[in-house]
Amino acid sequence: MTKWVLRCTKCGNEWILEVSFDLTKLESGRLYHYCPFCRHNTFHEIVKRLED
Ligand SMILES: [Zn+2]
Repeated sequence: MTKWVLRCTKCGNEWILEVSFDLTKLESGRLYHYCPFCRHNTFHEIVKRLED
C-alpha cells in the first residue's frame, strides 16, 4: 500500500489515502473519490506520494 496526499478541489482540505496502485498514472491527474470533509464524492488533486 502507498500513502498519497490528496487535496479536495471542492473544500481544499488535504488528507491521506492509502491505495495499492500508482495515482501518478491517472490520465486526468485527478481522482474522483469520497471526501471525508465534504462527505460526498468530489474530484481530488494528487498532491504527493508519502515515503515511509
Ligand atoms: Zn472536500
